[in-house]
Amino acid sequence: KAKSEGRSTFHFFEPGMDAELQQRRSIEAGLRLALQRNELRLVFQPLLGVPENRVTCVEALLRWDHDGRTISPTEFIPIAEETGLIVPVGEWVLREACLSAASWPGDVRVAVNLSPIQFKNRDLVGTVRNALAEARIPATRLELEITESLLLNENETTLRALHELRAMGVRISMDDFGTGYSSLSYLRSFPFDKIKIDRSFMRDLGDRADSQAIMQAVIGLGKSLGMTTTTEGVETERQLQLVRDLGVDEVQGFLFSPPLAPAALANLLHSDHIKVLTQKKAS
Ligand code: C2E
Ligand code: MG
Ligand code: MG
Ligand code: MG
Repeated sequence: KAKSEGRSTFHFFEPGMDAELQQRRSIEAGLRLALQRNELRLVFQPLLGVPENRVTCVEALLRWDHDGRTISPTEFIPIAEETGLIVPVGEWVLREACLSAASWPGDVRVAVNLSPIQFKNRDLVGTVRNALAEARIPATRLELEITESLLLNENETTLRALHELRAMGVRISMDDFGTGYSSLSYLRSFPFDKIKIDRSFMRDLGDRADSQAIMQAVIGLGKSLGMTTTTEGVETERQLQLVRDLGVDEVQGFLFSPPLAPAALANLLHSDHIKVLTQKKAS
């Protein structure tokens, strides 16, 4: 009986696994051509300074238009990482993001997500320097967002690159803080300027006392370490009020703006839309 069950399981799962593998292969093949076919684009989501009530920074988020649909980075970034395609793709993102930032007001920074794999490329610092030079923006206008997984490969090369970038004036953010298992020790080992608290803590902030306690503790921790604290995923006025009361420095989320196409973002930056919105909320 066991044998026949095993066999039926085998037959049941194999076609599904084939389909999944095929899907990956097709994403991989498509991704190889995405750059030359101009299928990649960036969208931009503002981060708001809470005390200043203005856009302090804008995060660049990658999109891939392929076969008539838009593929999410959560779907293709892992494949780009496994195949090494993240290196040319990531370089394109850096250049494109810096070029976009060149047309924004000079006090608005641009945040770019970096994959751990990009740190294995020995010339990451040179790549960043070139992107800044090409766009003619100062290093102080660039922030690099790194998720905790990177730091699992804690090593000399990564550390040296982070220190060199910081010495140039680039800011380093820890993205999705609280989702990895070594967040605290990483804060000690790596030179971060900013902590972005993961969206999952924001999601149940209103209903769960523990999420609120964690949020409060992390904001306090960031402050005492001299880091900027940011909360992602602010979707409601109530969430905004809660994190504002906890003393967060910066907020990001659908309440203010979803990720926008470049022209829409430029309009927003050159209008007082967000300023008016947050002043209204403050009163
Ligand atoms: P992330 O860096 O944590 O980016 C924030 C994600 O949360 C974005 O998803 C954004 O659209 C979404 N988001 C922002 N505000 C809200 C909100 O209020 N509610 C909800 N539910 N979601 C919100 P997106 O654009 O799908 O990106 C997903 C992840 O893909 C990013 O997470 C980042 O880790 C990765 N990614 C995106 N672009 C790049 C890139 O150029 N390079 C690399 N290496 N990774 C990227
Ligand atoms: Mg990010
Ligand atoms: Mg994040
Ligand atoms: Mg995330």
